[in-house]
Amino acid sequence: MKKHNYSAGPCILPQEVFEKSAEAILNFNNSGLSILEISHRSKDFVAVMDEARALALDLLGLTGKGYQALFLAGGASLEFLMVPYNLMKENGKAAYLDSGTWASAAIKEAKFFGETVVVASSKEQNYNHVPKGYEVPADANYFHCTSNNTIFGTQMKEFPNLDMPIVCDMSSDIFSRVLDFSKFDIIYAGAQKNMGPAGTTLVVIKEEILGKNGKTIPSMLDYAKHIKAESMYNTPPVFPVYASLLTLQWLKKLGGIPAIEKINNAKATLLYTEIDRNPLFKGAAAVEDRSNMNATFLLNDEAHTPIFDALWKEAGISGLPGHRSVGGYRASMYNALPIESVQVLVDVMKDLEKKVSK
Ligand code: PLP
Repeated sequence: MKKHNYSAGPCILPQEVFEKSAEAILNFNNSGLSILEISHRSKDFVAVMDEARALALDLLGLTGKGYQALFLAGGASLEFLMVPYNLMKENGKAAYLDSGTWASAAIKEAKFFGETVVVASSKEQNYNHVPKGYEVPADANYFHCTSNNTIFGTQMKEFPNLDMPIVCDMSSDIFSRVLDFSKFDIIYAGAQKNMGPAGTTLVVIKEEILGKNGKTIPSMLDYAKHIKAESMYNTPPVFPVYASLLTLQWLKKLGGIPAIEKINNAKATLLYTEIDRNPLFKGAAAVEDRSNMNATFLLNDEAHTPIFDALWKEAGISGLPGHRSVGGYRASMYNALPIESVQVLVDVMKDLEKKVSK
């Protein structure tokens, strides 16, 4: 039986992506070759890369607006250093919002390149909210933020208006909600949540911000080189890019980001309503910052843990335990998770209440 997969990533993908990927592994496009063995320079794969790059921009509403999409390797973590390498000037500075473990990891890398100003941090409160009311130094070369804090279950609902490039790590909520994506100059996201298997990272760049820091950048870390080579500077992660294309095609067919946003809102409302109603549970994140992708919650009485764990496992749920830095539970409700799976979890929570109150 297929599990209700709440894993924070790698995670569930649409069923048709699994099926079409399996077909392509055996015989890609009826070529008599597997997607795992075709040359990345073959006509068929160049078409995959071109379509994936174009479709990513299309879904984000960025076609024809001076943006380029790249599918790179190295994970979102490599972008933590590619961003400062490409944008921070000699003796320049960068501004960062510290809203979680991944934001803090990005800050650590930026510090290798120059002055890194943390404009606000919620670290002291174990990142249970997104800091607000901060000021960004006007002379910063760019501002970096994390739209969704995967570990803590918080999500930025608003983004500042600034006269400098805005860089956003959207690894765990890209393509999940309607935003004015043209507000951002670099968006990056590891594929393994809302887009595909691990192994590739989507980087969307407003081309005009590049080449302004007067630095010589090693080729593999230079966004301009990757753009010039049409995301084929070296051998790209062929299979993850193909599976990502299939997911983007699925999303396009569904009606794009506005359609998935409605579904994601319905899923999040269903689960948070139960977390707030059920006296056995409490949410871990500040209500106003709750993430629609990763819902973090705790049992009020830890003595109920064994029975709750047994119930959700019996119901075919997997990947529910919270990250060790928060504890409790984390339900990751990425785009491909059906609302029926959320209903199964809610039913289990209700079932626990009945069993405990007997
Ligand atoms: N940024 C965020 C928001 C994440 O959730 C993660 C991983 O979960 C990362 C960055 C790191 O991604 P990667 O493992 O692809 O380097």
